[in-house]
Amino acid sequence: MMDRKAISDLRQRIFWLREDREKLENSLFRPKKMIRASLVFLANYCGKKDCRCKKGFPHGPYPYLSEKRKGKTRMTYVKKRTLGEVKLEAEEYARFQHQLARLSKLNEKIRSLFEQIRDLNCREVEEYRKVLTERKKNIPRQENEKAN
Ligand SMILES: [Zn+2]
Repeated sequence: MMDRKAISDLRQRIFWLREDREKLENSLFRPKKMIRASLVFLANYCGKKDCRCKKGFPHGPYPYLSEKRKGKTRMTYVKKRTLGEVKLEAEEYARFQHQLARLSKLNEKIRSLFEQIRDLNCREVEEYRKVLTERKKNIPRQENEKAN
């Protein structure tokens, strides 16, 4: 049957996606140290009168940790001697978040393929009602045949 071929193709696609997901999950098992923020470099304006920054030459750029807290963004200045370590931690956090997003997409795809398998095996109540109606029509005829 046509459906069997379709279902077997769907199964094959799910198998491949599960392999992708396993690799992805393995890459999340042992993360390095992270910090829940991204590293950004911002120019500064000190506000002092007659400073060069007032004339369009800002200070910096300086490194900051940018984090989302309760819908707001908070900036934390990063000291130079911690910059290397903080940079690695922020990069690892970004990598982890990116992989998590990929994991969600893979799960959505797998789910949608399972839904297609479901639909290929699924009939509507409407079809069931039709079968009932046809049976009812057939019953009197069969009784007539017996009577004859
Ligand atoms: Zn200034």
